[in-house]
Amino acid sequence: MCGAEEAGFFILIEGAKLHVCGRCAKHGKVLSAPTPLPQRRVAFERERPEIDIVADFGSRIKEARERMKIERKVLAELVNEKESFLERIEGEKTIPNESLAVRLERALGIKLFEEVKEEHVVIKKDKKGGLTLGDVVVVKKK
Ligand SMILES: [Zn+2]
Repeated sequence: MCGAEEAGFFILIEGAKLHVCGRCAKHGKVLSAPTPLPQRRVAFERERPEIDIVADFGSRIKEARERMKIERKVLAELVNEKESFLERIEGEKTIPNESLAVRLERALGIKLFEEVKEEHVVIKKDKKGGLTLGDVVVVKKK
């Protein structure tokens, strides 16, 4: 609508279907969005025993969204969430559940999960060289 060349969005507006850019996508209902190019491989690997959402998930989402030049309302439609809820997530006031996080990963082409590695650390040994209760702690390391 603004005449921008990057018309990657396909929207429904007042009964008409139009190809528009990300900034104009908010004026209608988004039917399809461009596939993000960077970091296309974002499959969530469920076989991993421990996967945590990254600590800076909010800023990752916000930065990726701004890179795509789309407003929060548009992203909210893409992932089928409320805009206000996404705002809380971007502000890291709320942690997205797994299924929403996966939808956000796919919509934005980012990674929101990371593997948590467990490291067994021996703190001390008793006089006989064996371990006593409480000597072995598990440290979660990112
Ligand atoms: Zn436009």
